[in-house]
Amino acid sequence: MLLTVRDLSVSFGGVHALNLSHFSLEDKELRVIIGPNGAGKSTFLDILCGKTKPNSGEVLFNGTPVLGKTEVEIANLGIGRKFQKPSVFPSLTVYENMLLAFKMKKSILASLFFKPTEEIDTRIREVAARVGLVKELKKIAGELSHGQKQWLEIAIVVLQDPRLMLIDEPAAGMSDEETEKTGELLMQLSKQHGIIVIEHDMKFVEQIAQDLVTVLVRGKLLVEGSFGEIRNDQRVIDSYLGR
Ligand code: ADP
Ligand code: MG
Repeated sequence: MLLTVRDLSVSFGGVHALNLSHFSLEDKELRVIIGPNGAGKSTFLDILCGKTKPNSGEVLFNGTPVLGKTEVEIANLGIGRKFQKPSVFPSLTVYENMLLAFKMKKSILASLFFKPTEEIDTRIREVAARVGLVKELKKIAGELSHGQKQWLEIAIVVLQDPRLMLIDEPAAGMSDEETEKTGELLMQLSKQHGIIVIEHDMKFVEQIAQDLVTVLVRGKLLVEGSFGEIRNDQRVIDSYLGR
């Protein structure tokens, strides 16, 4: 198992945001998490990347305990996170934004004197090609379309070469065409990385859910199964899909 989670619990001011009894992910698995607003989906990813500290529980990544480690330590272990809201630097070019993925691994002092090697340059172009941003490399990131900004963010995570990618609502606000392209990209990426994706758009979920789908409701695991199984599960229909 790439990731094993047990009895993870976190509350904010007395409100139980997450109470996850178990969750596990295999290497190179693409897992989709769905559930109503406030179900604890983003909180779960926040815990996995070290942004939020749980009250109790256990998280093993590749056999290594993760809880108690800092965000940087967890990133260096190989867990990369793409947040829900775009956070690229709008005044830098696409290329410069991608370069930052390498600088982030260095100390502040080392990053000041950082010069891209040919190897890094090649890797940036490779990843840009994968996410469909080759022609945009010199463009200012702030001028990209919404979809392109999301792909740039995914590219920045890919450049850190994580074994596990955490991706929160990548298709939010995208056109149908952009959504489909994003789905194809994620399926490509899952050949090399374990991926957990949070998503609302059921058409998109159907496109990418080749493995298991996990349904969270009110912080708890309601059910796990294939897309076909969860779509026809009465509990899922009652608590999420039917609304
Ligand atoms: P989802 O991503 O499934 O919509 P979240 O994980 O964002 O849900 O939120 C789960 C619950 O925890 C919600 O009730 C939310 O209001 C609460 N919550 C999330 N983050 C915080 C925080 N930093 N402080 C207080 N409450 C929070
Ligand atoms: Mg969320």
